[in-house]
Amino acid sequence: MNFTKCIRLAACLLLMVGMTYAAKGGKKRMSIDKMIMDAAPDAQMFDVFHVMPEGDLKIMTEYDMLLTLDQYKKMRGPKTKGKSSVRSRTRRSTGGGRRGSSYPGFSRRQKRKADSDSSLLWPDCTVYYEVDKSFLPEDVNTVELAIAEWERFTCLNFEPSKFAQSRLQFKNGAGCYSMLGRQPEPQTVALAPGCRTKGIIAHEIGHAIGWYHEHMRPDRDNYISINFDAIPMRFHVNFDKYTTDIINDYGVEYDYTSLMHYGNDALPGSITALDPSFQDKMGQREGLTFKDIKLANLMYECASFMKCELKQCNFGGFQLYKAHKTALACECWCDSGDVSDPLVLCSELDSAPPQPSIRPTETPVVDLCYDVRDDCQMLKDKGYCMSKLAFMMDICKQTCGLCSTGSSGGREVCMDHDKGCEMMAAAGLCVTLEPVMQRQCPASCDLCSSPPDPCEIQKNVMASLDYIPNGIPRSAGVSLLPVVVSIAVATLSLA
Ligand SMILES: [Zn+2]
Repeated sequence: MNFTKCIRLAACLLLMVGMTYAAKGGKKRMSIDKMIMDAAPDAQMFDVFHVMPEGDLKIMTEYDMLLTLDQYKKMRGPKTKGKSSVRSRTRRSTGGGRRGSSYPGFSRRQKRKADSDSSLLWPDCTVYYEVDKSFLPEDVNTVELAIAEWERFTCLNFEPSKFAQSRLQFKNGAGCYSMLGRQPEPQTVALAPGCRTKGIIAHEIGHAIGWYHEHMRPDRDNYISINFDAIPMRFHVNFDKYTTDIINDYGVEYDYTSLMHYGNDALPGSITALDPSFQDKMGQREGLTFKDIKLANLMYECASFMKCELKQCNFGGFQLYKAHKTALACECWCDSGDVSDPLVLCSELDSAPPQPSIRPTETPVVDLCYDVRDDCQMLKDKGYCMSKLAFMMDICKQTCGLCSTGSSGGREVCMDHDKGCEMMAAAGLCVTLEPVMQRQCPASCDLCSSPPDPCEIQKNVMASLDYIPNGIPRSAGVSLLPVVVSIAVATLSLA
């Protein structure tokens, strides 16, 4: 056993002890969306458009997926009638030979979902990676923990490499994010200090092997409701579900408890489980669930890859190619219902595990006056409540005193919600990314009914408030006018 494998084994044992402790503790931990949100040192990390240090444009979506512009256009651009952007999933290069189309329970024609682009998958189920040498030993250990989780339950094999053309580079970054699927060049898995937990790293690896977020599935409306009124406008585009052209679920049922499912901590009231018993189970960051594991095994066709004699499993189970616990390889494994130990031999079950029942649920009444991040007071102290008003309306509404007595909260104001809007509009994205740009950048795309007037915007915002920010009485408004105008101009150029 080499040193790396030895570390993974030790880390696994520590993990199992830790998870047992957490499970018994019963105290709800912060959900993964909030962890990701808070790990970024700058709230503008969550803007959609980013010009990278290398000069290329990347798209940050759903807080932690960094996409190329081409990927984003495929996912969010206008659909061209009669021309599908989706390609058939093609055979990957494998050493073992593929027989994936014959895998029981998986029909490519009937179960559109998973990402259609086969180039996003890692050939031969091998993921190359390196960990930045600036990471402390305990950080390296945590990365190895996350990798061990994937290797334990799937046929994916993670190989350290500093030279493979396609490889993950775990390194420090301004938040937690990952590219979607394998890229043709080394790709960053950014791990700010707040992201260096086993669950978050395993989540980011999930994106890197080609996964989207669970709550963005095409069928998500059967299981959750999204309350857009509880979501600041700049984040709306992060909650538009994908179509079946983009996501393939491989027939795996919706999973409230997936490691890839966000919870409600970052944006309180944003996601409501239609089965109320799962309301507090969304956003877990302990590890892969049964359905996560099943999906990964189907997506990478693990049983076929490892030359298992393919068979149909009962009770929604799947074949795991490797020896697990004391069972032989290629056994059928089912859902144990326990995140800390998700698999049980299907042969030990008498019936299928219960699935979520969908009951009519009323959208809960939520307090819409909240801060999205924890550093709002610091931003307020810098004067951002006035100088970056549009931005702060979305991020620090409570701290800045920007909560409205009405329901609109100033949302009717037609203005940009992303610092890159002007540049993106100039690059023609108002047409090629219309569905996103019309909401994120209506001012820059000339979609406002009348040209945005900085004074008018400021006036509308103020009219929707209980009081003027910073406690300035309304009667002082006239003397403030020159300041307000300059602030509003700054706001337009910023947000
Ligand atoms: Zn994510």
